[in-house]
Amino acid sequence: MAERYRGRFAPSPTGPLHFGSLVAALGSWAHARAHEGEWLVRIEDIDRPREVAGAADGQLRTLAAFGLDPDAAVIRQSQRHALYAQALARLEAQGDVFACRCSRSELGASDGLHRACVADAHAERPPATRMRAPARTIGFVDAVQGAVARHLAEEDGDFVVRRADGHWAYQLAVVVDDAEQGVTHVVRGADLLDSTPRQILLQQRLGLPTPRYAHLPLVVDAAGRKLGKSLAALPVDPADPRPALAAAWRVLGQDPAVWARPGPLRDLLRTAAARFDMARVPPGPVAATGTAPAPA
Ligand code: GLU
Repeated sequence: MAERYRGRFAPSPTGPLHFGSLVAALGSWAHARAHEGEWLVRIEDIDRPREVAGAADGQLRTLAAFGLDPDAAVIRQSQRHALYAQALARLEAQGDVFACRCSRSELGASDGLHRACVADAHAERPPATRMRAPARTIGFVDAVQGAVARHLAEEDGDFVVRRADGHWAYQLAVVVDDAEQGVTHVVRGADLLDSTPRQILLQQRLGLPTPRYAHLPLVVDAAGRKLGKSLAALPVDPADPRPALAAAWRVLGQDPAVWARPGPLRDLLRTAAARFDMARVPPGPVAATGTAPAPA
């Protein structure tokens, strides 16, 4: 039997849903729907210090207003400590991870990359747990970005899987959850492209399947600057989904005619999904000036 497509959108609750996130939400939703697959939403709320109160609920309300409805109950990473602990125990048993008390400033001399511990014992500091970066290249073929390869030891160094403050690192949690939820296709923003080889390493060491990946173009302003201060970083307006959906659709390189028609939002979304073609998605970055919605 053919594998059942399962995709997901995994926002971090650090603020309202902005235009860049909408591109990832719409792209992952449309690709799943075009494959008659399922689409899940996962709230990545493991970074408690960065979390904004009420942001997750606001993001979910906005997705609902935009007609992007998940096929299963939304899960929250903050509730899944036991799964991450189990994965870490396996990595520990295999000797893949080590306790590290190096501070960020101590790693400054190596551009912040960890190659070997440089901190003197510092037994008083609580340790972070790092994954050993192998001295090899990990590659994959991305549906949008093409062939990607990264030498983990040289480009990433040994990376944190559990922080010194006890928080789980994104890299570990995302790998555990994608596998536990049976995700077959990860469609997300190109800002996470460099993370993917680290995630593939973790999958390999944890005996988990590697999903297929598609990294969508980053949205930039006319001057090519990242979202930060541009129009595209503004929250999308849940009261007026169409202009934002149409703008996100254009960033994804899809046929804009879909959004030019009248009719109920759900009908337009259905038509859009049926026509979604990953081959049209540009690697980016794509300028969204003039297309991003005005502030609410
Ligand atoms: N939570 C991550 C973010 O909002 C995305 C994780 C993912 O899609 O893998 O940037």
